[in-house]
Amino acid sequence: MEYDIAIIGGGPAGVSAAINAKILNKKFIWFSSRGVSQKVARAELIKNYAGLPDVTGAELGWTLNNHAESMGIERVEEVITGVYETGGKFTLLAGNKDFEAKTVILCLGVQAQKPIKGEEEFLGRGVSYCATCDGNLYKGKTIAVVCMDKNFEHEAEYLCTLAQKVYVMPFYKNYRITAKNAEIILKAPTEISGGLKVNEVVFKDSKIAVDGVFVLKSAISPATLVHGLKIEDGHISVNRKLETNIGGMFAAGDCTGRPYQYMKAAGEGNVAVHSAVEYLSRR
Ligand SMILES: Cc1cc2nc3c(=O)[nH]c(=O)nc-3n(C[C@H](O)[C@H](O)[C@H](O)COP(=O)(O)OP(=O)(O)OC[C@H]3O[C@@H](n4cnc5c(N)ncnc54)[C@H](O)[C@@H]3O)c2cc1C
Repeated sequence: MEYDIAIIGGGPAGVSAAINAKILNKKFIWFSSRGVSQKVARAELIKNYAGLPDVTGAELGWTLNNHAESMGIERVEEVITGVYETGGKFTLLAGNKDFEAKTVILCLGVQAQKPIKGEEEFLGRGVSYCATCDGNLYKGKTIAVVCMDKNFEHEAEYLCTLAQKVYVMPFYKNYRITAKNAEIILKAPTEISGGLKVNEVVFKDSKIAVDGVFVLKSAISPATLVHGLKIEDGHISVNRKLETNIGGMFAAGDCTGRPYQYMKAAGEGNVAVHSAVEYLSRR
């Protein structure tokens, strides 16, 4: 099925885009790596969301979710690992599934964690973001799994069923990896390095030899997600209509620049959908 609009991101920008796409009767699909954006859920007390004074992050998250659900909007809980444009339409990859859409709205937020040195350089040459897509390539081999979020532990366990030896680096407390061939390393890698392909993970005081590295996380940098996307000062470059440099691709929220705020993100989600609809009617 080809959608009119694909929305990526489940924060206020993504929710607002989804609500407005529904109101404008568009055939759309909405991807979000998890239920509510952690940037909403974690806020203690929010004082600047017009109409909702002194709301907690948990309450705002619930309100946003409930608004979408009450309109019959469903989010697809998948991390999009690549967006490719061919022949005037976009293909979005999520695990081993792909989806097609005429337009895309990127509501990705901003990443708190910088990529590991070498991570983006070796992507597709030994570095992967997707256990289900690339796990089979490492049957019987030695791999490292950088697990940024407890939600991805099951993917790390899955990789342990394929590889012979798995070095797991959990970036959170209370990890629970039970596979016998897993070795837990409680240090952050400083670099992923190699020649034509990855061959080692480097730490401050040591290194390990590996055939591949999986970096399991809920957000991927925009430039890695979409080749050729123009980035300026660390944000996706957009005009007032929130058009990017790629025809049919729009961006909204923190990923387009400061201020990083809920209302700005939600407002841009709305503008981006209107621009996408205008683009569709022009096509
Ligand atoms: C602790 C805290 C308190 C804050 N308090 C306030 C406040 O009081 N007032 C205020 O105005 N702002 C506040 N902010 C800022 C506010 O959280 C952000 O400006 C806002 O959440 C931005 O919304 P967004 O939709 O652009 O991005 P986000 O909320 O970051 O949402 C982006 C979502 O997209 C998902 N995603 C990213 N890439 C992919 C992908 N490839 N596939 C699928 N999903 C993907 C991410 O996992 C995330 O869930 C606070 C932030 C924090 C961290």
